[in-house]
Amino acid sequence: MSDKDNLEQYRAKRDPGKTPEPFGGEAGGGEPIFVVQKHDASHLHYDLRLQVDDVLKSWAVPKGPSIDPKVKRLAVPTEDHPLDYAGFEGVIPKGEYGGGTVMVWDTGTYRNMKADGDEPQSMAECYEKGHLEFSLEGNKLKGAFVMVRTNRGGAKPQWLLWKKKDEFAVSGGDILVDEPNSATTGRTLDQIACEDADKEPPECAKKGMS
Ligand code: MN
Repeated sequence: MSDKDNLEQYRAKRDPGKTPEPFGGEAGGGEPIFVVQKHDASHLHYDLRLQVDDVLKSWAVPKGPSIDPKVKRLAVPTEDHPLDYAGFEGVIPKGEYGGGTVMVWDTGTYRNMKADGDEPQSMAECYEKGHLEFSLEGNKLKGAFVMVRTNRGGAKPQWLLWKKKDEFAVSGGDILVDEPNSATTGRTLDQIACEDADKEPPECAKKGMS
């Protein structure tokens, strides 16, 4: 196993048959990981996280990713998250930061498309410059995406996220509606909320999901 495989220990401690946590694609591959978490907080939104070196660079994407190249989505940077956050699916208690239900909507590995070519650039360099191009190998999201930092947010930077045209791009439709459930457990937001909460919300019994 190479030193580049930052997740070696993470994986060694866990049994994929016993935990719902994702394992970041092929074990031992050493590719960087990504996750898109569906987060039912005060507003339902999606959080995109891309491994850059040893952290997950993170953005809140209010409307979630689209695989239609004509659709650009706002992505607002948030704080770096630890790598093993990519495996987090569960319930953040009400009143805590980000309180609400978190689903691993999609996860896998990606390739920095700017690492190839005449002037190879690392993801960290691309992040600094505010222009990322990467190819996702997820359960749902596949192929090339672009992220560009704009100056529209003034002091607070904003980015735009969109799908590049390739064999995985689809015009029209909405992958968020077509594939709403967890990539790792197949669960709905309601199921996660009822099964993973410390104290089962009263509405769960009514729905017969306990
Ligand atoms: Mn969030």
